Amino acid sequence: MRIIEADAYLVDIAVETVRTDAVQSFVKQETVFVDLVTEDGNRGTGYAYTIGTGGGSVLAMLRAHLLPRLIGADSRQIEHLWHDLFASTRSTTVGAITSLALAAVDTALWDLRCLRAGEPLWLVAGGFRREVPLYDTEGGWLHLSTEELVRGALAARAAGWPGVKLKVGKPRVEQDVERLRAVRDAVGSELEVMVDANQSLTAAEARRRAAAFEPLGLAWFEEPLPADDVSGHAVLARSTSIPIAVGESLYSVGQFRDYLHREAASIVQVDVARVGGITPWLKVAHLAEAFNVHVCPHFLMELHVSLVAAIPNGRYVEHIPQLRAVTRGQLRVEDGRAIAPDEPGLGISWDRDAVDDRRVA
Ligand code: MG
Repeated sequence: MRIIEADAYLVDIAVETVRTDAVQSFVKQETVFVDLVTEDGNRGTGYAYTIGTGGGSVLAMLRAHLLPRLIGADSRQIEHLWHDLFASTRSTTVGAITSLALAAVDTALWDLRCLRAGEPLWLVAGGFRREVPLYDTEGGWLHLSTEELVRGALAARAAGWPGVKLKVGKPRVEQDVERLRAVRDAVGSELEVMVDANQSLTAAEARRRAAAFEPLGLAWFEEPLPADDVSGHAVLARSTSIPIAVGESLYSVGQFRDYLHREAASIVQVDVARVGGITPWLKVAHLAEAFNVHVCPHFLMELHVSLVAAIPNGRYVEHIPQLRAVTRGQLRVEDGRAIAPDEPGLGISWDRDAVDDRRVA
């Protein structure tokens, strides 16, 4: 099924709320779309994103180098196309800009695959189960007061949600502990509490904070160290009983292999945009299964709900709604579980007028 049209464009979506962590804030969602039209008239739409910078570079990579190679290609040969595009950009892979560009193409190809099959993504990608547990991050940002964190966690528990994530990385360890202790005391032992340092700590400080967090019964300690410090994560993982979670800042299957092989991560947070699309995402997920490791992907709940539903080792989807301004309908949540969309394709119903209104390139 030949591709006859390939377009890319950049859309700025305002953040739905203020989101801060130990190293950055979410400025706007630069969303890079790819539309691929095949000779049978189907249109597949894929996308990737940044949280504020680099979107124009991804767009330039697509327009100048990747999209021209797709015209006339068979859209069904996703593995071939992914590897052809990867090989055509050897001098800039592995890298964030190229992986994001590949993801925008790859997700469009999967949209086409699902549309052709008349099936939803969660079934085409594996079909393990339709409902997946959801945890909330929106109530846990670093700028929020202790009272606000407690209020958010209590609301999540009242809604039947299984977990909440809190940002850590305040200047002093006591400040982090005070905030976490207040939440744990308020919600009791029923709710899972995850923490995320966003790569902000030194090895010594991460070890100290992990020890201080031990009595709080945390579900995981996310990105304690810079993402390229695999050996640092391996040492930390051996020094604490808290599971170490990484993956949102990794951009290839091989980087995940290194983390898993060295027992440096016990939860994998592979992000479908940053890793280069659904094709490599599934490889990471299956690799993690072979290591008996859960997958709890980063952000992009609108896509990840279907991918976590597809695999046997999916544990959680992260609740950060960010596409409501440009989609019709929203993620279905019942009793703290997200339900994978059942319509053919990726299951994201784009509001094309709202997308066009926010187009910047
Ligand atoms: Mg994180």
